[in-house]
Amino acid sequence: MADLPVVAIVGRPNVGKSTLFNRILGERTAIVEDRARTTRDRLYGDAEWNDRRFVIVDTGGLEVDPGDPIEALVQVQARMAIAEADVIVFVVDAVAGLTPSDTDAADVLRRSNAPVIVVANKADSDRRELDAAEFFALGWASMLATSALHGRGVADLLDVIVDALPPESADEVARKARDVADERRARDVADGFAEPGEGDDFEAEELPGPVRIALLGRPNVGKSSLLNRLLGEERMIVSEVPGTTRDAIDTRLAYGHGEVVLIDTAGIRKRGKVASAAAAEKYSAIRSLRALGRADVAILLIDAVEGLTAQDAHIAGYVVEEGKGLVLAVNKWDLVEDKTDRTFARYIEWVRREAPFLDFAPVVSISALTGQRADRVLELAVDVWGERRRRIPTGELNRLVADAVARQQPPTVRNRRPKILYATQAAVAPPTFVFFAKDADDVHFSYQRYLENRLRDAYGFIGTPLRLRFRERRRDEAKNRPPRRPGTAPGSTGRTRPAS
Ligand code: GDP
Ligand code: GDP
Repeated sequence: MADLPVVAIVGRPNVGKSTLFNRILGERTAIVEDRARTTRDRLYGDAEWNDRRFVIVDTGGLEVDPGDPIEALVQVQARMAIAEADVIVFVVDAVAGLTPSDTDAADVLRRSNAPVIVVANKADSDRRELDAAEFFALGWASMLATSALHGRGVADLLDVIVDALPPESADEVARKARDVADERRARDVADGFAEPGEGDDFEAEELPGPVRIALLGRPNVGKSSLLNRLLGEERMIVSEVPGTTRDAIDTRLAYGHGEVVLIDTAGIRKRGKVASAAAAEKYSAIRSLRALGRADVAILLIDAVEGLTAQDAHIAGYVVEEGKGLVLAVNKWDLVEDKTDRTFARYIEWVRREAPFLDFAPVVSISALTGQRADRVLELAVDVWGERRRRIPTGELNRLVADAVARQQPPTVRNRRPKILYATQAAVAPPTFVFFAKDADDVHFSYQRYLENRLRDAYGFIGTPLRLRFRERRRDEAKNRPPRRPGTAPGSTGRTRPAS
């Protein structure tokens, strides 16, 4: 899986960081469906431009201690950006002009090895754009004027960002090839050039390898304690391999008949370098995201005493969006007092209520301190990995879909009732289903959810998000015709909707 480069947006409050962030993510945010709403005021997002993908982080959105003065706050952001970002976008306010806290932040940013792009925002007019020249005084040659509010200059900024990214990793290249293959297959079926069952060999996916696991969670939740447990239990450490990013080290260990890789074990152990608790939290969040990019399955640790926090839900939301497997491990279970045989069941009920969008994820209570069920977590992660790679033969899938549709028709939308014709599984990891339909755009979200539930009833898919896409079926049969050029099929909108 791709280890995406990180672009951090820094700058003092009110310069327009979050407006810019939303503008860059705009298109994608619009298609994020209702269930993932925990990520509404998101701090991270996947962006794509000129065929490159990267993670964009709004450092301003990560709350620091409310009592901190602005200067301290900007400095913390700047330091984090230096530590974790591949490209830094330093936003200043073209209307307010250069301020002392801009200069202070610049002093910190100058120590960065990552390229810094200065963005003079709120340059809503040509005239303001000219004024922006004063920011050259900060000393960076790469300076652009934008109006995040109106979109002005944002495309140029994205060009500059993409140019500044480190070269594409082998993972990124492989992921792209897979995306293209999936798309082509789905299109062939949609256009009638392939039977729905054809090409069920999932060729591009056949590279299982070891299970790659990321341990995620807020500082102090017990990640390094769990790591030590897992590494300590007479399991042979096969090797330590450098991750693709800076100081990331992955640890490969023997497990069952195979191997698992614990991602960024160096990062899990890295601690104590950042001043405040809030800063440490931000720092670990970015680090976690990078680890997640390379993982198949995430084990998200939750503190049994504190319960599921907003930050936990945030990280989980990101796991879902990335289509990675998820295990929820409630740690420090030893600290829960007066446990009865109902305590865990109640806890699960509570988690399901708090985070209904995580209802597919298994929950396990553990104690990294005593070692209680620590092994079970790995077992679950490996199980989830298997579920994530499951493939359903097309014939079987279509019987299930026909049955589901017979039991319950899609609701009418704008006086039209979409007609689901057939479906195929286009990919594994995460399992991705393409439903071909008449009026595919009108398949209501609730009905997508219904179909997802039928799939889960029949096949489990425990711990893995599913992707459901709905595509328009062409009316006239197109078999035996010479292939069309990509994207020219009438009636095929090419639009997709993620379902998890
Ligand atoms: P942040 O604190 O740096 O994240 O700043 P926000 O994105 O919250 O923006 C602060 C204010 O500036 C909001 O009222 C925005 O609408 C406004 N703003 C952001 N970008 C622009 C812009 O390009 N032009 C103008 N005129 N206002 C902007
Ligand atoms: P990390 O920051 O997520 O890596 O968390 P650590 O593994 O460093 O743990 C933070 C603190 O919580 C340490 O003092 C641990 O001893 C303690 N801790 C970790 N797991 C458990 C547990 O299962 N039970 C109890 N009681 N304490 C734990």
